[in-house]
Amino acid sequence: MRLLIKNGIIITENDNRDIINGNVLIEDNIIKYIGKEIPEHDDEIDAKNKIVMPGLINTHTHIAMSGFKGILDDIILDDFLKKTSELDSKRTDDGIYNSSLLGMYEMINSGTTSFLDLYYSEDIIEKAAKKTGIRSFLAWATLDEEYTTQKGNPVKNAENFIKKDHIDLVKPLIGIQGIYVSSDENYYKVKEISEKYNVMVHTHLSETRKEVYDFVKIHGERPVEHLNSINFLSDRLIAAHCVWVTLNEIKMLSNSNTRVSWNAVSNAKLASGGIAPIPEMINNNVNVSLGTDSSGSNNSLNMFEEMKFSLLSINNDRWSADTLKSQKILDMATRDAGIALKEKIGIIRENYYADIIIVDANKFNMIPYNNKNVVNNIVFSANPENVEYVIINGKILKNKYKINNKIDFMELDYM
Ligand SMILES: [Zn+2]
Repeated sequence: MRLLIKNGIIITENDNRDIINGNVLIEDNIIKYIGKEIPEHDDEIDAKNKIVMPGLINTHTHIAMSGFKGILDDIILDDFLKKTSELDSKRTDDGIYNSSLLGMYEMINSGTTSFLDLYYSEDIIEKAAKKTGIRSFLAWATLDEEYTTQKGNPVKNAENFIKKDHIDLVKPLIGIQGIYVSSDENYYKVKEISEKYNVMVHTHLSETRKEVYDFVKIHGERPVEHLNSINFLSDRLIAAHCVWVTLNEIKMLSNSNTRVSWNAVSNAKLASGGIAPIPEMINNNVNVSLGTDSSGSNNSLNMFEEMKFSLLSINNDRWSADTLKSQKILDMATRDAGIALKEKIGIIRENYYADIIIVDANKFNMIPYNNKNVVNNIVFSANPENVEYVIINGKILKNKYKINNKIDFMELDYM
């Protein structure tokens, strides 16, 4: 099957950040051609007045918590954590499945084509991924047994999940919750499994000041310093948050090629104080991508909002509107995330997976548009309602604003 997207304004996100007026040919699940020619094809989408760009990539969420919207708001962090763990302990398999479907459809609708998840019960989440067709990176969370709500041993559960056969669009990872519930032994086991099965690692790291100070009190060193000293940092690790890190720790992240997922909205909603030192990370060549975190601490999986808020929060904090620019924020939500996940996604490039979205530029909130300002418009003005087509692995999952699968009834387990 050959699908031609023709006459679009193509934001390629390639190495030169070329913006091309032309056509993209998808053959089955792979991008085969980008340019002015009209190659042979079986079907076509007319993208005149539309922006053709890589699908957005969310590198930190807990998709099974998508049903937690509107019930964890207006409360301080301690109460948030208490209430979340109460809700977590009462979860059912159906609730996890339905909440995951809800979140995946919200992502597809808003132009997100891949996400990185951290949770237990990733086997159930994989079933939801199969139904919705979204590309999924699923990290089974581990922690010390005394803190877990999982049945059985978390590391064994994670290993069993990794060993299973997975559908094409799912890549398993091993997760580790964070230094506040994981001993060194947990870190060593995670590292061992990551190497044994050649899978990546996802974790929370230095999210709040309290977490860092509590750790320093006991261990006499900061969390990133500690993970560096036990040799845990590596290019297989994607660490979410990294808000409270020093320049010395940023150098450790850089030297080890550890990747960071920045969650600006979630950090602000939980008012954990501080803004991650992103400009310093970029100056030190740390790969930074964007995550929404869960619908409990964000209430939205909207990556357009995440791009805009992240950029504004940093620039306002640094008293300079050019500290971070729109092109870099879009990179973080697309190509840099693809690099972080080591997958051929996030760029419209030949032989990359066909994960593409088409955004209608001919809308009140997007006019005027031209090759020079489309990136700015995507970051500052676009919203999910502008996303007309979403193609994941060559399949059209949002077609003329309509999602293929509708959920008629949803029973969420926290109600
Ligand atoms: Zn999180």
